[in-house]
Amino acid sequence: MKHFNSKELWLKQLSNTINNPHDLLTLLKLDNNIKLINNIKTKVSFSFRVPKIFVERMKLNDPNDPLLMQVLLNIKESRNFNKLTKKISLESNLVKFNLIHKYNNRVLILLNNSCAIHCRYCFRRDYLKDISNIKDNMDYIINYILQNKEINEIILSGGDPLMMRDKNIKVLISMLEKISHILILRIHTRLPIIIPSRITDDLCNILINSRFKIILVTHTNHANEINSSVIDSMNKLSKANVILLNQSVLLRNINNNANTLANLSIKLIQAGIIPYYIHLLDKINSNIHFLVTKTQANKIMKDLSNKVSGYLLPKLMYD
Ligand code: SF4
Repeated sequence: MKHFNSKELWLKQLSNTINNPHDLLTLLKLDNNIKLINNIKTKVSFSFRVPKIFVERMKLNDPNDPLLMQVLLNIKESRNFNKLTKKISLESNLVKFNLIHKYNNRVLILLNNSCAIHCRYCFRRDYLKDISNIKDNMDYIINYILQNKEINEIILSGGDPLMMRDKNIKVLISMLEKISHILILRIHTRLPIIIPSRITDDLCNILINSRFKIILVTHTNHANEINSSVIDSMNKLSKANVILLNQSVLLRNINNNANTLANLSIKLIQAGIIPYYIHLLDKINSNIHFLVTKTQANKIMKDLSNKVSGYLLPKLMYD
């Protein structure tokens, strides 16, 4: 049996994953719900994947658990997938050699196509597999940024950028640090919320020793995702001078009410994370059962503004 030291704990937890909805429902004592997901599996293109360490935060015997509902297959997903013509999301048309340059001052690099968890609402799910290997395009990316001196910020996204090993992150940051007009490095990641041990001492050392101002934007949708291990990991990042922000997606039957979002904001700030953005769902064929309309979202945000202080009120975003 392979032995993992503390540096590699996250890798062990990453591989300890449930890849089958039947197993998840059995584990959560929801065997009666298994018949609801039969016949779905073969009709959807995005595989099932949930690390056990995240499942531990789900409630037993609760088919409406907000963490479970983010990852469980839904019959509506396969119906929509079959009924509608497959439409690639708007963002995928902007990707060139793993790079998206939409705003003057910043570029987004899609580092990889893998994630610790497969969120059923994900708008990138249909084209994640098409994201190229970053190694093939690194020269293009560096040259592109060198030639565009108005860029002062690089955003690392994916997939999930923290799926990269620490030693590779170190090499990547060193390469980017050679571009003198880059001042800020932003990392968009869901991994430390799902697997808090991903915030290793080595990673913190890399970040604290970088010349960049580092901003880490977590992706959290519900207060139940934040446990004491998440808080400990976020404290490590704060001590490494990393600024912590969060973005959420507004999801029907999961977090689409002001009380749930107020609880999330409070939990985030307890972890030292500022609620930054809440996104309306980026619609693709297979996720529209999660949709909250713009009118509903505006009402929720108005109610939320009466429940939390201004600094805990995320900005509602829609493309
Ligand atoms: S972690 Fe992010 S990119 Fe990966 S499936 Fe979830 S929402 Fe999509």
